[in-house]
Amino acid sequence: MAETAPQTDPSVLDTDVEQLPGIGERRAEPLRKVGVKTAGDLFRYYPRAYLDRSTITPIRQIAEGMGPITVVGTVTSKGLVPGRGGKSRFELRVTDEDGGTLKCVWFRGANYIHRLYNKGDLYAFHGKAEKYGSQFSMAHPESDALSDERAALATGRIIPVYRGTAALEKVGLVNRTFRKLIYGLFKSHGLAIPEVLPGSVRQQHGLIEGNVALRAVHFPKDAAERGRARYRLKFEEFFFLQLLLALTKGRQERRAGVVLDGAGPVTRAFLESLPFALTGAQQRVLDTVAADTASGHQMNRLVQGDVGSGKTVVGIAAMLMAVDAGRQAAFMAPTEILTEQHYATIRRYLEPLGLQVRLLIGGQRKALREEILAEIADGTAHVVVGTHAIIEDKVAFQNLGLAVVDEQHRFGVVQRARMFKKGQRPHVLMMTATPIPRSLAMTAYGDLDVSAIDELPAGRKPIDTRVYSEKRRDEMLDFVKRQLREGRQAYVVYPLVEESESETLADVKDAENGAAELAEALRPYRVELVHGRMLAYEKEEAMDRFKGGEADVLVATTVIEVGVDVPNATVMVIEHAERFGLAQLHQLRGRVGRGADQSYCFLMASYKRSAESTERLEAMEGTTDGFEISEIDLRLRGAGDFFGTRQSGLPDLQIADIVKDAEILEVAREAAFAIAEADPELKAPELAEMRAHFGRTAPKSLGFARVG
Ligand code: ADP
Ligand code: MG
Repeated sequence: MAETAPQTDPSVLDTDVEQLPGIGERRAEPLRKVGVKTAGDLFRYYPRAYLDRSTITPIRQIAEGMGPITVVGTVTSKGLVPGRGGKSRFELRVTDEDGGTLKCVWFRGANYIHRLYNKGDLYAFHGKAEKYGSQFSMAHPESDALSDERAALATGRIIPVYRGTAALEKVGLVNRTFRKLIYGLFKSHGLAIPEVLPGSVRQQHGLIEGNVALRAVHFPKDAAERGRARYRLKFEEFFFLQLLLALTKGRQERRAGVVLDGAGPVTRAFLESLPFALTGAQQRVLDTVAADTASGHQMNRLVQGDVGSGKTVVGIAAMLMAVDAGRQAAFMAPTEILTEQHYATIRRYLEPLGLQVRLLIGGQRKALREEILAEIADGTAHVVVGTHAIIEDKVAFQNLGLAVVDEQHRFGVVQRARMFKKGQRPHVLMMTATPIPRSLAMTAYGDLDVSAIDELPAGRKPIDTRVYSEKRRDEMLDFVKRQLREGRQAYVVYPLVEESESETLADVKDAENGAAELAEALRPYRVELVHGRMLAYEKEEAMDRFKGGEADVLVATTVIEVGVDVPNATVMVIEHAERFGLAQLHQLRGRVGRGADQSYCFLMASYKRSAESTERLEAMEGTTDGFEISEIDLRLRGAGDFFGTRQSGLPDLQIADIVKDAEILEVAREAAFAIAEADPELKAPELAEMRAHFGRTAPKSLGFARVG
């Protein structure tokens, strides 16, 4: 196949799966659900794992601290074990050919799952083995029935394992059927597979041919061939993703934008009114923004800056460049608390300069809202600070020139997309305090320009961070008291609002209890509480009392996670710190250390915690650098969970992994951007197959990303 020029008829690849031999209507349905709609998709239903001697762990060699493993053996016993509250669990024992035995347990769905396994049959189980007492067991492993595969395994072949679902199994689409179907597909359609990567790219990066790679990824002769195949296919996947980003970025860069001309009198007056000089990094970003907005093209820039790096000032100065050019500007923040704080700060800076600043949030009285909307429409309002209320349809600006989106990662994809459509395509400056590791930024934000404020204002001292167990609570309290006595303030943060119904969390002290206990322990100092269930005005009043110094300690749930700025606060106590993610811990800690005084962070953590929590807490003790922390976080959590939401801005990848394959991503990105730059219409004849494939498979827009 590799020798003769392939007969390329890609339209055959568009054949509906339902039409393929051995599939039909009943099997097509669950296949579509897993994204397999055409013959081409079935070719690309890559194995999720391989079984051969090198990937199977003998049960006797299982040791603590191993990652997910695969064991293969015969089910020797199985049974439902009654538990508390009428709930049963299902347990089985699997014995491998060396005679090692492992227990597998299912706590959920036991009554259904126990029917799926037969005593005496051969299975592969994938999962993490954990030690309980002296024994290892696997909870909720993935599994594959292998009785038909005994012979193949014995002769040392590599067996591909496909991702299964209950619906697929129901119609008999298990591993063995997948292998047969895909094998048959190569026979009938294999010659139609076109080479979608340009020859020059393949050559430069030493990539094997597409059809060879596809066949080898399903049916590798050996590990080396499988490695070459997977490399090629990962490259290809990244390449097409980056091509989409490159073309989108190119289009955006060519799009006309309002012409601003840098810092005029208002911007300069603002900068001169600041009690401090900009850091080098702040100045650099502002210079870049000035250049972007003067270019005649629309700016789409993301500014990454660690907590406390001074993004707000940069955002304000950027807005004022629009005001200097006779335009309006908007500042959008993700929560009401934050928005109101920004509103107060921005008014304090801008009203003395004679500017009109307006606040737009949900829940404002109708009459007030109407008035504000009118002032936005007739241009009376120079600067509008608001929540996503700003991007509602009813809000019409007279001439919006620039919009700042603070903590952009907190906005949903749709909200962000709408922001860009407002008015006459304003310049957009997004700001994020979650530094994004490079590989993620290249994917999630690959179509944006990214700059970093990588320098903190002078005089900031690294926050002294300590992990304490419950035993040392009194020590921590004494420390806090001493700080309060010196006139400083403290935060105490809890992961939960109220006693949870779930019995596993029954021992959790909630923020309300915590506040009461603290008030007692810290008497005569005053303790204030804010949590997510309070009404907006109640929160605001509580925050005001803390900001104004009437309260010494603010007990809060994570509502204070972002943006709160009280420079006099020097202590952050995080309760149940083992439950917070690393990025969140870093954000919370960033609430202190904003003044010139030494600040402290206590991470109160339970002894009973996972190895991963321990790693997180140690990382917090070890560094205060947000970029370093985000790299560790990404490694610990993996790309999918990094942003913590489904709207993560990350595409679904079939074979490549943004974290593990970061190096491939880098080279594929370069290759794609070079092509998009040289030939934005992809007109060159040697790009024909690539363009056709791109047209067939690329999402219509950057649906997965943030830009509309
Ligand atoms: P973040 O980047 O976390 O949003 P802020 O914009 O809230 O940070 O700034 C944190 C604090 O640092 C604020 O009190 C702000 O006034 C102050 N600040 C900003 N820039 C500087 C600077 N160049 N020098 C000193 N303090 C600064
Ligand atoms: Mg901020």
